[in-house]
Amino acid sequence: MTGFEHIQKTGRDAVLVVGGGVAGITASLDLADAGQSVHLVESSSYLGGQVSKLDKLYPTDHCAFCPLWTDVKKCMEHPLITVHTLSHVKELNKENGNYSAVILRGPHYIDEKKCIFCGRCEKECPAAAIHPDWEHLYPPSFVIDETLCTKCGNCTKICPSGAIDMDLKEEEISLPVSDVIWATGFKEANINHLKEYGSGTHPDIMTSMEFEEWTSEAGTNRGTIIKRSDGAIPANIAFIQCAGARDLRMIPSCSAVCCMHAFKQAEWVKRRDKRIDCSIFYTDLRTVGRDYYRYSLRDFEDANIKLVRGRPGLIHPLPSGNGIAVQFENTITQKREIRKFDIVILNGNIQPSLIQLRPAQPGSMAVPRTDKEGFVIEESGETSDFACGFGLEPADVADSVIQASAAAMRIMNKASDQR
Ligand SMILES: Cc1cc2nc3c(=O)[nH]c(=O)nc-3n(C[C@H](O)[C@H](O)[C@H](O)COP(=O)(O)OP(=O)(O)OC[C@H]3O[C@@H](n4cnc5c(N)ncnc54)[C@H](O)[C@@H]3O)c2cc1C
Repeated sequence: MTGFEHIQKTGRDAVLVVGGGVAGITASLDLADAGQSVHLVESSSYLGGQVSKLDKLYPTDHCAFCPLWTDVKKCMEHPLITVHTLSHVKELNKENGNYSAVILRGPHYIDEKKCIFCGRCEKECPAAAIHPDWEHLYPPSFVIDETLCTKCGNCTKICPSGAIDMDLKEEEISLPVSDVIWATGFKEANINHLKEYGSGTHPDIMTSMEFEEWTSEAGTNRGTIIKRSDGAIPANIAFIQCAGARDLRMIPSCSAVCCMHAFKQAEWVKRRDKRIDCSIFYTDLRTVGRDYYRYSLRDFEDANIKLVRGRPGLIHPLPSGNGIAVQFENTITQKREIRKFDIVILNGNIQPSLIQLRPAQPGSMAVPRTDKEGFVIEESGETSDFACGFGLEPADVADSVIQASAAAMRIMNKASDQR
């Protein structure tokens, strides 16, 4: 008994969902719960996407991981969803109103269904090539880094559950599919070439994703706020908004999420250590929506988080090595100032992940039509390319989930029109 016997399969070919972040997971679950079979293709070794790396989520301040874990588990266990991790779509051809797809499924040397997560392989690997697959997600397992693995075979011998098989090869799977949903999300863009931000010049100049991982309760320091350079508690932190975004040299659009997550990160710094001063340098504050606007207003004065209007013109490590100088014009007082900070967080350097794939893997991966910024252009017809989440447009979790459900519903409507 699966519990899904009441659901009738639509009789159509499966829908292909590319990308297993919140958007891809939501679209897959909505389709499958409506009786549509789905192939969900994810390039990394786990489902969850970028949200699996976040600590708390605005606007609720709830743990990001708990609801995600439940949906990942549902997806992995749903009888109508076939999950392909470590995989990508090699070919996608349209013929006679249908797609046929070729999926390249990377070798899963460690079978996550057999792995009992005992950790012996990690401890005893002489090349340190085995590490936990994002340990907070479902099912917990390990992955082998092929760039480090020497194929000595030690792990295969010591694994008590026989979960490791180093002889596995990449598989090609060909499938007919009725529609495609692109849910490929975002990646951080490297902004080292925008010299004024000082990115890459000092360990305490970090991106917001790095800071999230560094300070997250489940991350490197288990929620403690310390400097990367010397492990000391910082006296103050600057959050620099629109770093790389709303900038014609790099990402012309607004990330749509950075104002809110700067508020979130600054507030969680204060909750964890009241002694640390936080300043947010902004161009203008974009907290669209009733709850978001309230979120940005609450407790700010009490928490002593300073808002500074002005985009810094230069950020650089001090010659002493002790701290980082931020030079800016305060566009409210119209004064030019220089302030010293212990940590600087660069916010805004996120862009659709497809834009970065193009030069890296030409010809080896099927990609949809995109605009100049790399966002997917949806196409409808007998066979349709739908999109949702950050790969469609800058979107936070709430928007990504709404778009995902909308894409699933449009596919189900199309299916019922065809019957
Ligand atoms: C620092 C930071 C903090 C944030 N905090 C919040 C918050 O508190 N609240 C909130 O609502 N939002 C927040 N966001 C935004 C949130 O992370 C996004 O809205 C969300 O991740 C979008 O989900 P997604 O599924 O579209 O994309 P992603 O999470 O990026 O997932 C996309 C998935 O697709 C996979 N993929 C990519 N390309 C391919 C391919 N070619 N083939 C197969 N798989 C592929 C990727 O590996 C990934 O797993 C934050 C963002 C940042 C940067």
